[in-house]
Amino acid sequence: MRTPHDLELARLTKRYGDTVAVDGIDHVFAPGSYVCLLGPSGCGKSSTLRMVAGHESVTEGAIRLNGRDISALPPAKRGTAMMFQNYALFPHLSVKDNVAFSLRMKGIGKADRHARAMKLLELVDMAHLSERLPTQLSGGQQQRVALARALISEPEVLLLDEPLSALDPFLRVRMRGELKRLQRELGITFLHVTHGQDEALALADEVVVMNNAVIEQAGPAREVFNAPKTEFVARFMGGHNVVTLNGARHAIRSDAVRIGPDGLPATVSAVEYQGDRVAVTTNVQGQEPIIAVMSDAAFYATDINPGAHVRLSWDEGRLHRLRA
Ligand code: ADP
Repeated sequence: MRTPHDLELARLTKRYGDTVAVDGIDHVFAPGSYVCLLGPSGCGKSSTLRMVAGHESVTEGAIRLNGRDISALPPAKRGTAMMFQNYALFPHLSVKDNVAFSLRMKGIGKADRHARAMKLLELVDMAHLSERLPTQLSGGQQQRVALARALISEPEVLLLDEPLSALDPFLRVRMRGELKRLQRELGITFLHVTHGQDEALALADEVVVMNNAVIEQAGPAREVFNAPKTEFVARFMGGHNVVTLNGARHAIRSDAVRIGPDGLPATVSAVEYQGDRVAVTTNVQGQEPIIAVMSDAAFYATDINPGAHVRLSWDEGRLHRLRA
């Protein structure tokens, strides 16, 4: 049964001349969830998002929201709203007037639109700066205003294009907590485009991994990370080794590789200290380098150094066979 606010892509395709940016993708997003569209640069994430927003035409296929095909509607009529990477705030308007802007376009009176803008500014903790101009705000504050402005149309789906990329690493982690909180409070679907695995894992209920204009794998963040189905996903999500056993490719998490008395003979080629853990890179005959990650305490209890001859093992159950 279809629940309200289902967002569905059906054979969705985007071509720019000879370039196929999005190649007939089918997907139903779980309603009211935080979705990250993840993949390397050029894989078609932004084109997908822009088609959903109505900022890019659909070459073939359909976009449905609540069962209704919205793919030919103007952006403001779709039930979606977009927050842009550069925030696109109007420099000459106050924070409050930036947030209220779309209501002014709809002819809603000043008192009413200001009251609604203030409510949203409270939601993003910016009510106290409502009279400022955008240039008088920090990057994180500008982002909150952009969020409030996108949310004022009461969208069923909020679209976010690399929303954290303009922030420094510290602020990025803080803002990602805020985005997650907002999504939970509002209960609407957030569709967030990113090329950062960490960001997707931290935020998403559902991770949709794209590669070469198609969806490689979609599912809960833990499932996509723990059980990558393809070599691309295993490598792109990180934290895995790809090994060849009996002629087939498998993924094994780096922290599931044990260095001990038994197993495959290997030679340590590098040791990298990562703070709370240590990554030991090894060479095994007939394989690509295999990385074993261990806690710093476990590592410093050994005498592993580059050049050391060790043995690698893992529990069979931790191996995932990859689709050819
Ligand atoms: P991503 O967001 O994953 O980086 P895009 O959707 O921006 O990927 O791009 C997918 C492909 O489409 C790329 O090969 C890109 O060069 C191409 N592309 C994107 N926008 C345009 C455009 N306006 N005109 C021509 N080609 C484009």
